[in-house]
Amino acid sequence: MSREFRAHFRCSAGCDETYPLDEVVYRCKKCGELLEVSHDMEALRSRSASEWKGLFDSRVGATQWPYGSGVWGKKEFVCPGIDDEAIVSMYEGNTNLFWAKRFGQMLGMKDLWVKMCGNSHTGSFKDLGMTVLVSMVNEMIRRGVRLDAVACASTGDTSAALAAYCAYAGIPSIVFLPSNKISVAQLVQPMANNAIVLSLDTDFDGCMRVVQEVTKNNTIYLANSMNSLRIEGQKSISIEILQQFDWEVPDVVVIPGGNLGNVSALARGFTMMHELGMMDRRPRIVLAQAERANPLYRSFLKGFSDFEPIVPGKTLASAIQIGDPVSVRKAIAALKEYDGIVEQASEEELADAAALADRTGLYACPHTGVALAALIKLVERGEIPRDARTIVISTAHGLKFSEFKIGYHQGSIGGIRSTYANKPIELPPDIDRVNETLARELSARKRA
Ligand SMILES: *Cc1c(COP(=O)(O)O)cnc(C)c1O
Ligand SMILES: [Zn+2]
Repeated sequence: MSREFRAHFRCSAGCDETYPLDEVVYRCKKCGELLEVSHDMEALRSRSASEWKGLFDSRVGATQWPYGSGVWGKKEFVCPGIDDEAIVSMYEGNTNLFWAKRFGQMLGMKDLWVKMCGNSHTGSFKDLGMTVLVSMVNEMIRRGVRLDAVACASTGDTSAALAAYCAYAGIPSIVFLPSNKISVAQLVQPMANNAIVLSLDTDFDGCMRVVQEVTKNNTIYLANSMNSLRIEGQKSISIEILQQFDWEVPDVVVIPGGNLGNVSALARGFTMMHELGMMDRRPRIVLAQAERANPLYRSFLKGFSDFEPIVPGKTLASAIQIGDPVSVRKAIAALKEYDGIVEQASEEELADAAALADRTGLYACPHTGVALAALIKLVERGEIPRDARTIVISTAHGLKFSEFKIGYHQGSIGGIRSTYANKPIELPPDIDRVNETLARELSARKRA
């Protein structure tokens, strides 16, 4: 490598404060705002836009550790100072960009794509950020920093990712989960990966307050997305999207949001590429919220003039059931920069959108359902043109949400009509009855 690429923490509110990435610090010591990772852009400019594109393209599928990872294939943009040997990776990223041909047709759209970020080791896009955070912890331990464990509060997916990456590296992990508010799969994942699993009788925001206390003495490292190392890994999504379109910029990106770290990550990825001349215009970003956990939507309706945390209601989109998002300030800044829209989806809208998408070959988690439902509403209102090249970020694998899927198809979710339910048909092993039934079902599907 011709030049040393460097990054450090910097205050996201603009103070002069900077700290090394291997310091245990999450907020600006002067003003208390969240930090962000700041890269030495001058060093990065020592290579041209086309050199960076060529380098990143050459690493897709590479066998040389750790560059075959979709995150570490962009190491210079993500976390350049870390020793390759300290990296804890399961070759996350490089996920399929699914051409939603038949779902798009339903909306009159020809250029609709779903970025399948849930097709990952622990089944959600949280792996993208967790590989960076756990790698840095591993590096810090190698450098002699005393860290006894890594901890997070979670709505299910962060804890699964933290537990798996820590188990891989042999680092103890602690997860705080709101009791009875996550799926069975999400609860089993950290149990299986031998995390210390604490199930608290509160909601996510309550768990978040506890984990911030527990990590205060700095021997337990905080892994929530207020730790901006995770944001650096998550932002690889934007880079990958461009890469998968041969570096053409899409028109619109739709992403579901709860704690709102990821929408700012998405914007950061685009901004970095923009500053390095790798893209010539900016896409529009749409942030989708569940109607029952919609504090940012409410703020958007007031032009972001103020923001009020709420107590969220129970939503099927459990990973975004958050009323007091930690990264709200960063998210609002990102949305203002990217001509942002915030849209919401009711329980029935999100469930129906996921079911419709599944009929076209997807297997959408409820959060992806929120994003798809928001897309449908915006296209119907003409806010997203039908010819716009649009990407929906699918954040988790549907297989983590079997209760949601089964409940929908059995028609057992209260308050939802399950319009697109498809129940198994119970029959005796009688060939005439089977033939009769098939004839009836096939003709019904032809009419539909
Ligand atoms: C974490 C998560 C989100 C939301 O990301 P935030 O950064 O909290 O806004 C959306 N979907 C799934 C499946 C998640 O796990
Ligand atoms: Zn500050």
